[in-house]
Amino acid sequence: MTMKATDREQRHQARMQRKKAVVDAAIERADRDQGLLLVLTGNGKGKSSSAFGMVARALGHGMKVGVAQFIKGRSDDAQGRVSVAGGGMPGATTGEEGFFRAHPNVRWHVLGEGFTWETQNLARDTETAQRGWAVARELLRDASLGLVVLDELTYPLKYGWLSIETVLEDLASRPPMQHVVITGRAAPEALIEAADTVSELRDVKHAFRAGVRTQKGVDL
Ligand code: ATP
Ligand code: MG
Repeated sequence: MTMKATDREQRHQARMQRKKAVVDAAIERADRDQGLLLVLTGNGKGKSSSAFGMVARALGHGMKVGVAQFIKGRSDDAQGRVSVAGGGMPGATTGEEGFFRAHPNVRWHVLGEGFTWETQNLARDTETAQRGWAVARELLRDASLGLVVLDELTYPLKYGWLSIETVLEDLASRPPMQHVVITGRAAPEALIEAADTVSELRDVKHAFRAGVRTQKGVDL
């Protein structure tokens, strides 16, 4: 009985020693610092909320953060106020926007004005996306920003309102220590290839499909 327990104890110790050697070697190998490109894609919930989790982390370290949201139906006006362009949730701002926008180290832009689900006005959607990208590009040229979030960027890429080449070029020429997080479903292959870290969120279950409507603090 005691022999057996000792035996187990020793095997456990040996296994943990081997594991530690592997982990230590991996830590030793990772000796570089660089600005990272992260892509959070897939149909499961958790892409944008993960990106905003990184915003909190960066701010906690005293870093400056830029956020550009490529979402439908809302935009900043010239005074930087936010308006809602019909449909959806009138007056709705997300919790993360309410929380982070007021932070002195955050620059927050909502760039979705005029996007339509129907894409019946391709010229207007393209123009809106291009104008939005000009703002995002400013963030990617600002070396004081340690983290830039391009939320739902895959959406204008998917519909062809923005060219992937332009986006990849601007990402490649950003400041070397700037981290960028891109979220959205169906990330184009070229973006995944260019990225350093990619996670695909898998949709296992979502309460919405069981009839629960959007819940504050969880969904927005
Ligand atoms: P979140 O902002 O919660 O991290 P997300 O960015 O991964 O979500 P989006 O495609 O941007 O996902 O959708 C945003 C909204 O849609 C959220 O309210 C989210 O709860 C909801 N949602 C996300 N995934 C699903 C899904 N698979 N089925 C139904 N609703 C979803
Ligand atoms: Mg999202």
